[in-house]
Amino acid sequence: MTIEAPRDEATAARPLPILSHWIDGRPVEVLPEQTGPVHDPASGDVIARVPRGGALEVDAAVSAAQAAFPAWRDTPLISRSQIFFAYRELVYRHREELARLITRDHGKTYPDALGEVLRGLETVEFACGLPTLLGGLNTPNVSNKVDAHTLRGPLGVAAGITPFNFPVMVPMWIYPIAMMTGNTFVWKPSSHTPGATQLQAELWKEAGLPDGVFNVVYGGREAVEAILAHPGIAAIQFVGSTAVGRHVYTAGTANGKRVGAYTGAKNAMVVLPDADPDLAADSAVAAGFGSAGERCMAQALVIAVGSAGDTLRPLIEERIARLKVGPGMEPGMDMGPIYSAEHRATIIDWIGRGEAEGAELVVDGRGFHHPDRPNGFFLGVTLFDHVTPAMTIFHEEIFGPVLGIVRVDTFDEALALINGHKYGNGTAIFTTDGGAARRFELEVDVPMIGINVPIPVPAGYLSFGGTRGSAFADLQMRGDDSIRFFTRQKEVTVRWPEPGRRGPLSLVFPGNV
Ligand code: NAD
Repeated sequence: MTIEAPRDEATAARPLPILSHWIDGRPVEVLPEQTGPVHDPASGDVIARVPRGGALEVDAAVSAAQAAFPAWRDTPLISRSQIFFAYRELVYRHREELARLITRDHGKTYPDALGEVLRGLETVEFACGLPTLLGGLNTPNVSNKVDAHTLRGPLGVAAGITPFNFPVMVPMWIYPIAMMTGNTFVWKPSSHTPGATQLQAELWKEAGLPDGVFNVVYGGREAVEAILAHPGIAAIQFVGSTAVGRHVYTAGTANGKRVGAYTGAKNAMVVLPDADPDLAADSAVAAGFGSAGERCMAQALVIAVGSAGDTLRPLIEERIARLKVGPGMEPGMDMGPIYSAEHRATIIDWIGRGEAEGAELVVDGRGFHHPDRPNGFFLGVTLFDHVTPAMTIFHEEIFGPVLGIVRVDTFDEALALINGHKYGNGTAIFTTDGGAARRFELEVDVPMIGINVPIPVPAGYLSFGGTRGSAFADLQMRGDDSIRFFTRQKEVTVRWPEPGRRGPLSLVFPGNV
């Protein structure tokens, strides 16, 4: 039987590259019929084929990770750290290539993709220094001639399931800490944006990571179900939509795994009347439309207090008029296309819904067509005013370049809207009043807060998390919390009797009185 390589649908000539799983330190090839298409959102062309893995591939990856685990667990911390330093250098050296790969199948602008790589690298850098944080407590004399110490050890095989929108940064929030703490790892990336995955695997190999410590299985629901069911996987960190994350948390914990699922969002920034209007307008436009609104830390709502709404709206409109939408690799573009044709259609439906619900459609992005890229998944930016909590566009995540202004009379009303929202991921306040900002940070029930900072993604060594529908997890991701998540603490009680002074046999439960 001869197998025809799939062809590039646009040119009908070039054979398309077929991506390979990465198991036990090498690519694992698949047949074309076991793959799905990967698109360039700027042209609409199919540019590659991505494997549709399932239980077999997950099992192979877990077996490789299990086999690699004992030696990796026993590898001295400094030796692990040296591999991580090497990986850090390699990623930095390949940062532009990684950014180009991100732009190619995600669509975001190249500078934005480069920023993603560098922000992801912060967590790799944090992991390089983990040896000092992996020590435990040591308490002499907890009893007569008895000492105690705490050990922090890895769990075994950990898995990461990641979304389309940050194909380098979000995995880098997970795998460095999972592996530096001594676990081996299976990564299931998004099938929409797999282009930068293999380079990450190859760079780990080049950095000297032993085979089997880092494995990749591509796939969708079937692969995720296999991860949730696999008895060899001890812990899972998931990042993605709320519906899938809730299921991953419920099914994974029911199967005895540790799970942290970090999910959807509908973030709101509050603008008080005393705010610097230009800073607030720049921030609303940057946080609303950057990466085409496809960021979990995007600000999809601006809650304008009192006169702030009337001040802000024309400033936002002016800035929107200057935005350039086009292919992410073209210099000077502010926003690239939407990542998929289906998601573009969903966003268009949401805009229609907002209009039907009575929000004022100030700028309508639906009519935008790129003159040279008729098949690209482009959409212009949309601005609604007078969005209210009675509308679904106030509550639901659209995950596109759609910004809504909500008008309220008081700070307290703004706070109540944020604290009552079904999502709680990030938020921000724009004000020159320190007292108001202080009250905001103490009373807002959202874990990531910006004060005159629109996208308050914490630095890579700090934790990242959500409340309500934005996270199903006991701990946050990254930082101290991830060290706890990926390790099990053991308490060791030690007696070294002095020679010849063992003491008598006693059946009494030992006390210290
Ligand atoms: P998604 O839930 O569709 O996909 C996430 C992962 O789950 C992917 O690997 C995907 O292959 C897999 N998956 C998809 N459908 C599945 C199903 N039915 N069963 C099992 N697995 C499935 O999310 P997405 O569209 O890739 O990413 C966008 C979402 O991610 C948004 O909701 C965004 O807010 C969220 N997000 C959250 C954070 C955060 O830190 N809270 C960060 C980035 C993105």
